[in-house]
Amino acid sequence: IYILAIESSCDETAAAVVKNGREVLSNVIYSQIALHTEYGGVVPEIASRKHIEKINQVIEKALADADKALTQMDAIAVTYGPGLVGALLVGVSAAKAISFASGIPLIGVHHIEGHISANYIENKELDPPFLCLVVSGGHSHLVVVKDYGEYEIIGRTRDDAAGEAFDKVARAIGLGYPGGPKIDKVSREGNPDAIHFPRAKVGDAEYDFSFSGLKSAVLNYLNSCQMKGEKMAVADVAASFQKAVIDVLVDHSMDALAKYGYKKFAIAGGVASNSSLRKTFEEACAKRGIAFYHPSPVYCTDNAAMIGAAAYYEYQNGVRHGFDLNAVPNLKLGERI
Ligand code: ATP
Ligand code: MG
Ligand code: FE
Repeated sequence: IYILAIESSCDETAAAVVKNGREVLSNVIYSQIALHTEYGGVVPEIASRKHIEKINQVIEKALADADKALTQMDAIAVTYGPGLVGALLVGVSAAKAISFASGIPLIGVHHIEGHISANYIENKELDPPFLCLVVSGGHSHLVVVKDYGEYEIIGRTRDDAAGEAFDKVARAIGLGYPGGPKIDKVSREGNPDAIHFPRAKVGDAEYDFSFSGLKSAVLNYLNSCQMKGEKMAVADVAASFQKAVIDVLVDHSMDALAKYGYKKFAIAGGVASNSSLRKTFEEACAKRGIAFYHPSPVYCTDNAAMIGAAAYYEYQNGVRHGFDLNAVPNLKLGERI
């Protein structure tokens, strides 16, 4: 089964050809990051316009790189939520037009289901059930993957997502956008135990996260440095912040693994490409005899190969969408519209 997959939910215009859900024949990503950098974050209107400009080229390149013709595709898959509505609409419209013109079935895919499914690409033996930590720009979810296409969210963030915290703190300490990779890099020069930032517990929900208090603690620390006329050690602040985030993520994940008894654990989303996070999880899982799975960095941040991977199992489950498929900016995981 060959699937042409399209992703345009945020600031990456992406297309890929994926065979049987696990073999990536092409993976084309046009990143708009440079365009949004001067604004310190993604500007939705600019994102939509750039998607329109790039989408046809990106799709054509995905087919060319895979050395396949459109007529060889068994399905056209596209992210239809969650994400920026104007950005999503570009991919959804392109996919519907291609499906209509070619008669090839259309499959709408949940963006976070895509992030989770990125793990299937390089881990051919991984199959549900397993526990997955999704940490991206907009989500921090602890998810039980019960089966293909079947999810139970057992923990979520009450405020900021992990990636959002990275981006906001990076901006505050003068590292700029996008914050995650920059904090990752400068943290290697810093001492993670230099400053103790709080690890938030959400009282009534064991596996929920909260990162806005941590963000405030970093801002307070910066203010106090300024008031005392001290220069803050950027690398130490970054490393200490990063460690506070990772500690909570690891704690909650290991508690959930123990409680639910899963022996397989995966991570997904842009923050999952963080080098210290990967190392910490690797050690924590090894200590407990748990198999640890993670996608390569290129499959952690937004891409269309992960959408093709998710779509394959939707295809097998009989999911097909009509031309009334619409962008759903707040689509819930496991929900089908
Ligand atoms: P969502 O998937 O929730 O809709 P998104 O698509 O914008 O949001 P992703 O593309 O999955 O998010 O990830 C982008 C996020 O990952 C950004 O917040 C970015 O700062 C963060 N990120 C990327 N690389 C790293 C890294 N090495 N360390 C920490 N964070 C990172
Ligand atoms: Mg992005
Ligand atoms: Fe994403």
